[in-house]
Amino acid sequence: MATYQAPLREIGFVLNEVLGVGRLARLPGWEEATPETLSGIFEEAARFIEEQLAPLNKTCDEQGCRWENGEVRVPEGLAEAYRNYWQAGWVGLSNPVEFGGQGLPYLASKVIGEMVCSANVAFELYVGLTQDCFEALLACANDEIKRTYLPKLATGEWTGTMCLTEPQAGSDLAAVKTKATPNADGTFSLEGAKIFITSGEHSMADNIVHFVLARLPDSPPGVKGLSTFVVPKFLVNRDGTLGARNRVHCTSIEHKMGMHGSCTCSLAFEGARGWMVGAPNTGIQNMFVMMNLARIMVGYQGLGLCELATQNAIRYALERKQGKAFDGGETIVHHPDVRRMLLYMKAITEGARVMAHETALHVDLAHRHPDAAVREQAQDWVELCTPLVKAFCTDSAFELGSLAVQVYGGHGYIREHGIEQIVRDAKILALYEGTNGIQAMDLVRRKLMLHGGRLPQRFFARVRGESTGDAPLGFIAKPLRQALDELEATTHWLQESYKTCPNDAGFGAADFLRAFALTYLGYNWLRMAKAAANHPDAGLRETKLATAQFFATRLLPQVATLCANLRHSSADYMKLDARNF
Ligand SMILES: Cc1cc2nc3c(=O)[nH]c(=O)nc-3n(C[C@H](O)[C@H](O)[C@H](O)COP(=O)(O)OP(=O)(O)OC[C@H]3O[C@@H](n4cnc5c(N)ncnc54)[C@H](O)[C@@H]3O)c2cc1C
Repeated sequence: MATYQAPLREIGFVLNEVLGVGRLARLPGWEEATPETLSGIFEEAARFIEEQLAPLNKTCDEQGCRWENGEVRVPEGLAEAYRNYWQAGWVGLSNPVEFGGQGLPYLASKVIGEMVCSANVAFELYVGLTQDCFEALLACANDEIKRTYLPKLATGEWTGTMCLTEPQAGSDLAAVKTKATPNADGTFSLEGAKIFITSGEHSMADNIVHFVLARLPDSPPGVKGLSTFVVPKFLVNRDGTLGARNRVHCTSIEHKMGMHGSCTCSLAFEGARGWMVGAPNTGIQNMFVMMNLARIMVGYQGLGLCELATQNAIRYALERKQGKAFDGGETIVHHPDVRRMLLYMKAITEGARVMAHETALHVDLAHRHPDAAVREQAQDWVELCTPLVKAFCTDSAFELGSLAVQVYGGHGYIREHGIEQIVRDAKILALYEGTNGIQAMDLVRRKLMLHGGRLPQRFFARVRGESTGDAPLGFIAKPLRQALDELEATTHWLQESYKTCPNDAGFGAADFLRAFALTYLGYNWLRMAKAAANHPDAGLRETKLATAQFFATRLLPQVATLCANLRHSSADYMKLDARNF
């Protein structure tokens, strides 16, 4: 069985010695969120996660969710673990105190999120969507809706969903048909069918709060005619007690490749009562509050699985004896090809961790920093990096899961080791919350263009500032500067070519996203190498410098190739007759 040990030393190194999260405690209201306090919280969370969530991972996979007699049954032990989790206060960690949360930084909840995702990624979906639903209502709902739902969502006593997808409306939300008809009392009646709704039905919580995208009868066509509604499973009485069952029902659940502990439901809205959230026809903006956070959350699911794959592969390679290596070593960690795989896994996982935590840190700076200029810069960082975190971490999870199977050899393919589960669980991450193709288009079409191209310019300036000067870290600073030059030139090319030939930009978008993410990871490895160069912990110093070297020589050069490839015209491929594929 795959095992999980929370990488607390590594997380502490990233937060304190690379990102300097001590600065959070200088922001108003977070004076107590010092590195010492946060590290105590992470240790306590890690204990809970290792003891209660990690052992459930295999049960979740093997038993899965079942649809029996019109009810969703979750795997044994899941409901109890969820109750223990929210009652211990972990769901509400970063939610505002006024709604029953603990008011800690968003970053703190994401660090714990990373650990939960490694231990039991299916479990995290129940928590993560609840937090995102909370944030969307906090940002967009009126006071009455906030009073009714936020306190129970803040703690996790009720769970949340996001209901967008319909059979004909996946990536293209303009095709959403669910209808919301106004009632005389100010509520709405929703009619329609939603599919693939995560946590859409279960009995782990007393109520489920659906955040639904639907269309008013007189609305304009397309995304401009969508509105958002809150639709509870049980109606809520004025005094906060639960009333009648609402007319939203689960009609079936999906049988999936992985993520078996998470229920994926088809929901029928048959005159369900809903309350509008935000103004009419502003649904897509409101839903994006939830989707942007959910994209970061899915990136963390990817990071969690990268860590799980990497640490299990290393553990196995240290134990498995097979053949004699050139250096005489007997365990497979001595074979150069196995070392190559392990270093690749470490380089990606540890570099991606800095990317994810730095993005979460900027969510906090964008909300709380007293200086408006810092808030604006932080928000730019979050906007630019959200598609990178989502797509790069999740593509990497699938790739590293596959590499972990490779390190295990044939044993990795056998279910009892739990390694092939990582590959199956990871695949969905590249598909939901906007497929990774959609993330690449978001980067190229929106993020490069916003505010006259200010977002990437700020990124380039920051990375260039860090990578000036050579000795003694020229081994990574120099290839990073070269990668940055390529990336910047390609960014200008895309900003221009998009205006005249959007197909070229669309064809190259996935390669561009990877080139961007690898450059970002190069920046992270440079900073990790700097922090490790004179570190008193000799083991950490050695492993960080060797992995930085690996990244500089094996991964950073890929940026130039990716950039050169994507600048080729796509005309020949786009004119190929679709019938001749
Ligand atoms: C397990 C699971 C859980 C889910 N949970 C939820 C949930 O909680 N709530 C919810 O609302 N939905 C949920 N979904 C739905 C999920 O978000 C969609 O499956 C996803 O958005 C893709 O839509 P689709 O499957 O219709 O694929 P399609 O949109 O048909 O896409 C097919 C392919 O075409 C590509 N493509 C489509 N349009 C474009 C474009 N404009 N540019 C470039 N490429 C494009 C895609 O990248 C993809 O490769 C879930 C799905 C699954 C499987």
